[in-house]
Parts: sequence; structure tokens; C-alpha cells
Amino acid sequence: MKIERLNVGWFTAPGGIFRKGDDLDQTVRFPIPAYVIETATERIMVDTGLNPKAITDPGAYYERPELFAMLALEQEQSLVEQVDVATLTKVVLTHLHWDHVGGLQLIPTSVPVVIQRSEWQAGQDDAAVQRNLFIPSDYAENGREVILIDGDFDLLGDGSVELLLTPGHTPGHQSVRIGGLVLGADVSHYASGLDDHRFPVFAADHEQQGRSADRLRAMRDAGVDVVPGHDPEILRPGPVMARS
Ligand SMILES: [Zn+2]
Repeated sequence: MKIERLNVGWFTAPGGIFRKGDDLDQTVRFPIPAYVIETATERIMVDTGLNPKAITDPGAYYERPELFAMLALEQEQSLVEQVDVATLTKVVLTHLHWDHVGGLQLIPTSVPVVIQRSEWQAGQDDAAVQRNLFIPSDYAENGREVILIDGDFDLLGDGSVELLLTPGHTPGHQSVRIGGLVLGADVSHYASGLDDHRFPVFAADHEQQGRSADRLRAMRDAGVDVVPGHDPEILRPGPVMARS
């Protein structure tokens, strides 16, 4: 089992939007990670980063100027420059935000997506799309198989990769456990969020997010490495070790 972290972009924004209580006048450059999990028979992509076409002027590209008024995007290398996407066997989406699904259309439609049913359904519902700041064009139906799951899920049937339902940041957010490693995704942008619950100011349900953070914190306290979603101090590209 090999796990590799890629950098698939950056967003720069007022820190106080993404960690409650931080300064709104101070911007922070947040890394956007994606992961490739390799087993003997599978190459699983976890999240897909930014849509390269949206980088220069996301407000205009998505026709959502209000959403990107305080955000700047950057990308050094897109997904396809870092992974041979033709060799992927599955894409796991932790949730439907634009910094996680933007690269989906760069992956051949023969590669199925695995996502929580509650997240996918929210992504098809106009009111939920608005409330959760989703941009449906990045994950629009294009013939790709979408495998919908309900709750925790043993992805390969052998216990090696488990998807954990960790809702709150979005309605059906999920994390990924690989042995002694958990990719927490946006349960908390910062590692410290598992303890202090200083989440982004927006969420589908902050209380539920707090309970998901408590769940991951308990795993961390039991010796599991829990990787945060966008912590600038932690998320450097390269191999990630999973404790066995
Ligand atoms: Zn994110």
C-alpha cells in the first residue's frame, strides 16, 4: 500500500473565513491536497483539486463573482500533470466543494466516483447547492458511474481502505481511513481544529461538524494519524506513511 500526497492548487483568502476567530484582514495561502492510494490492484484518487480553467478568474469562469470576491486561486500543476489518470481505478470524493471536485473532468469517465449518497443528493438540489456553495458544473453527469454509499464503507472489501461518514462541513462529507492513517479532509482545515473546533465560518451544520471532529480526535488519541484538510504547516507534497 502506497499513499502519495499531491498539491493540486492553492487558495488565498482572509484567514478569518476559514478559522473562526482569526483575523479577517490577514490573508492565508491554503494548500489544496489530493491523494493517490495504490494497492496491488487499485489506484484510487482521493479528491481532484482545482479546475485548471477556473484558476485565473474563477468568479467569471463559474459566473459566481460573489463566491470568489475574496479568493485568489493558484495551481502549479494540475492532476493530469502529476498522475497518469488512465491508470486510475476509482475516484473517492470527500465532498463536492470546488477545491475537491474541480479536476474531476480531467479523469476518464470510465473511472467511477465513490461518494456518500447524502452528499450527492445535496449536490443535485438547488437550495442545498446554494447553501453549501457547490458549483454543479464541475461534477455534472457525463456518463460516469457514481457509486453512492450510505455511512461507513469498506471500499475494497478487505478492510484496507474505509470511508468514514463525517458530515457537517457539508451534508455528506466523508473521510478516508487507510490502516493507521485518516485523511480527515475538511472535517477540519487545521490540525488544531480537532481540539478547538474553530472551523470555517460556513458549514452545512457546525454541531454535526463538531461531532465528526470529536470522532476523528478520538481516533487520533488512540494513535491514528489524522491529516487535516488545508493546514498550511502540514500539507507538503510527497509520500505519506500509514502506520499499520
Ligand atoms: Zn476544501
